[in-house]
Amino acid sequence: MSVFTHPEFHDHEQVVHWRDRETGLQAILAIHDTTLGPALGGCRMCSYESEAAALDDVLRLSRAMTYKAALAKLPFGGGKSVILGDPRLDKTPELMRAMGRAVEGLGGRYIVAEDSGTSASDLRLMGVGTSHVVGVAEVMGWDGRLRDGDPSPATAYGVFVGMRAAIRVRYGRDSFEGVRVAIQGLGNVGRHLAELLAAAGAELIVTDLWPENVRMVVERYGARAVSSEQIVDTEAEIFAPCALGAVIDDDTVARLRAGVVAGSANNQLARDRHGDELARRGILYAPDYAINAGGLIDVASEYAGYDPALVRVRLDHIADTLARIFAIAAREGVSTHRVADHLAEQQIAHARGRGQPMAAVGPRAA
Ligand code: NAD
Repeated sequence: MSVFTHPEFHDHEQVVHWRDRETGLQAILAIHDTTLGPALGGCRMCSYESEAAALDDVLRLSRAMTYKAALAKLPFGGGKSVILGDPRLDKTPELMRAMGRAVEGLGGRYIVAEDSGTSASDLRLMGVGTSHVVGVAEVMGWDGRLRDGDPSPATAYGVFVGMRAAIRVRYGRDSFEGVRVAIQGLGNVGRHLAELLAAAGAELIVTDLWPENVRMVVERYGARAVSSEQIVDTEAEIFAPCALGAVIDDDTVARLRAGVVAGSANNQLARDRHGDELARRGILYAPDYAINAGGLIDVASEYAGYDPALVRVRLDHIADTLARIFAIAAREGVSTHRVADHLAEQQIAHARGRGQPMAAVGPRAA
């Protein structure tokens, strides 16, 4: 299994296969880029069908973190780690502590955070073996509530303010009153997002694979439930993918009836060309890693001492970043995801001492 010739290898700085004999831990840690600072990214635990699939995931996700941190103007680079194993069956405290030692082995070049399959309590166990861990601080949060390290409320808030920037541009509206939002996925982020939107007067149309998640949001916020197949075709102003990646593909791009796509899911576009197709159809796309950076902003802030007021300012700034992306996209006739990529790349290039003109942005091979 080659790394340097792997299709997802894009100039990564370091890829480490880590095995702990005593616990049987098998992990891959990838550092994509540390130009802006130490690489920060979640540790995902997943029963991958193969080691190749795990490598694929960690290479792709670590690179995405570089872009996310750069666009959010955080002094961090991009990294990610994956533990090969089923989080429900294979996770033990010893395994998590061993993962902490693996992180420590990279000497601070990589800072670990929560991801799917790991939780704040797992991160605390990792923290026994390393100080390079975030998403664990129990302090007063950006929203005035006690936080336990879970980044989801901050992610949801970032999506909420990002949506507001999007409806301003797409519909000329400053308020969510009567705006219909179709939320796909009512997990940690989707539930918090539903709460914020309902409080702001939005009408919610929701779906999830778990009936319990749906029932809760229907009862609390008066949402209307639809099947997971129907959500894409739902008549709404905003479609909010908060479940899976690659939801915008050849099929769904033609079925969407919303004028805005804005949600928390990572890698929403199956291919870059689907972002172009959204633009062509007049659908305003809020680039995923721009609008879902709230969780990263929240946990990254622990590293230098958590300042709730500063976190709040940075979360609100997500709206400004999106407004800028939308404005450049409209002015240059370029789709929004390409503008986001360009701005992130420019941020890194500047740090390396060279800039790139906007004219360099053009359609890339899908
Ligand atoms: P989660 O696992 O808590 O929730 C996902 C929900 O989506 C689950 O309730 C699941 O049942 C539902 N779901 C899965 N497939 C579905 C389908 N086909 N149709 C409808 N519902 C479906 O995850 P989360 O933490 O809420 O994150 C949601 C998305 O946002 C993920 O893509 C995640 O990678 C991304 N994200 C999360 C954060 C964060 O802070 N949690 C930060 C950045 C990005």
